[in-house]
Amino acid sequence: MSFDKTFMKETVFIAGAWTAADSKDSIDVINPATGETIGTVPNCGRAETARAIDAAHAAFAPWKAKTAGERAGLMQKLADEIMANIDALAELLVTEMGKPLAEAKGEITGGANYIRFFAEEARRVYGDIIPSPWAGKKIMVTKEPVGVVGAITPWNFPNSMIARKLGAALAAGCTMVIKPSELTPFSALAYGVLAEKVGIPTGVINVLTGDAPVIGAEMCENPKLRKMTFTGSTRVGKLLASNAAGHMKKISMELGGNAPFIVFDDADLDAAVAGAIASKFRNSGQTCVCANRIYVQSGIYDAFAAKLKETVEAELIPGNGMSAGSTQGPVIDDRAISKITDHLQDALSKGGTLISGGERAGTAGTFFQPTIVTGATSDMKIAREETFGPLAALFRFETEEEAIQLANDTEYGLACYFYTQQLGRVFRVMEALEYGLVGVNEGVITTEVAPFGGVKDSGMGNEGSKYGLDDYLNIKYSCIGGL
Ligand code: ADP
Repeated sequence: MSFDKTFMKETVFIAGAWTAADSKDSIDVINPATGETIGTVPNCGRAETARAIDAAHAAFAPWKAKTAGERAGLMQKLADEIMANIDALAELLVTEMGKPLAEAKGEITGGANYIRFFAEEARRVYGDIIPSPWAGKKIMVTKEPVGVVGAITPWNFPNSMIARKLGAALAAGCTMVIKPSELTPFSALAYGVLAEKVGIPTGVINVLTGDAPVIGAEMCENPKLRKMTFTGSTRVGKLLASNAAGHMKKISMELGGNAPFIVFDDADLDAAVAGAIASKFRNSGQTCVCANRIYVQSGIYDAFAAKLKETVEAELIPGNGMSAGSTQGPVIDDRAISKITDHLQDALSKGGTLISGGERAGTAGTFFQPTIVTGATSDMKIAREETFGPLAALFRFETEEEAIQLANDTEYGLACYFYTQQLGRVFRVMEALEYGLVGVNEGVITTEVAPFGGVKDSGMGNEGSKYGLDDYLNIKYSCIGGL
């Protein structure tokens, strides 16, 4: 299937130049809807990463020295350019990642919103004057950009996961080296084209593709790079955090989740079903905030399961993201199919009942039917691990205390959701859940104006909101004496 290639670059963007890898090795990029190779990107290693860090380091002082208004102006132009080219960017994203075109456009709009929001925030990096305990001395607090930032991003939101980091970094006055997932590099390289078009100075944004462990190691070990920001698996996040500790680099880690979605007897059934579908099946179940464990109270369990099945079967249509009407793109690759199949077989072997889906879909690519299993229990893999696919597992519970205990019984702490119409319960449960994000009677809550970040093994730091900027700033205390 043909698509708009305006923003597709098969070289990497270092110090304002488009180049191949030193080794001339490349990596194939596959369309998950068809299995076809859509292009290649360079397989860079240490040397190219070090050059990108050097470029970002050289660009740092002049970028930091610009006024916030100057940086904000360029960022607004970047957001405008993204929106002016949304069709081409969305087609590229769908082709490398698979999500439906409408969702891709939503993601790109969301990405532009992050950049715009942080452009506005750039002007509000306020400091403090603290009343001094000493006569003749002033206490002044200022905030400064941390320096060169290394960003490693995943494939599930190839555009907006970069925008969240890039927006905050540019606003703060930092420069960046971005390494996207090798599965979806083109949406990231497109930022290089956009940066050139709007005149972001050379070296402020560098994008390279290649050997992830090697690039990650250079980022962590190179002392010129002062912060690592990562979105991806908890396993890789822990590795990067421990390597970054060698130079005591600042880190932001957005890692895995295992989101509980609790439906109490007193919930609005239609709203809970709609929220569960949005939370579970968006992006074909491939977001770190997707509902993974759906806990339903006994009194509403059968009605919820029946309505969920009916709505999923009526509304969700797997198909190529470029085809009108498809709501469910493929999952990213065969490994994803294997994990979903493994979780499903495990659940069925331990007493779960399949009430919808359960099979691969389509004749090509890596599609999986929206799938629902009832009778899920805590001993199943799906209770402990993130499935990252369109498999909804329904667990039964009896009391509020039990729901809270089950929901918190995980090492993860990113997103959670619950549906109830009782005011007292809203506050009790909201406070008891050990999570960074809570959706109360809402299944999709992400926005650039609110903080996004997990606790426990789901990571540290926040993206979006005024708090998101803090992750890219150091605090400097100056004591001015002799007055
Ligand atoms: P997922 O399983 O969802 O792909 P990963 O954590 O493996 O999550 O991947 C997220 C990002 O981390 C990707 O850009 C990937 O290339 C990168 N990555 C994977 N392994 C490493 C590593 N050892 N060091 C640095 N980055 C890595």
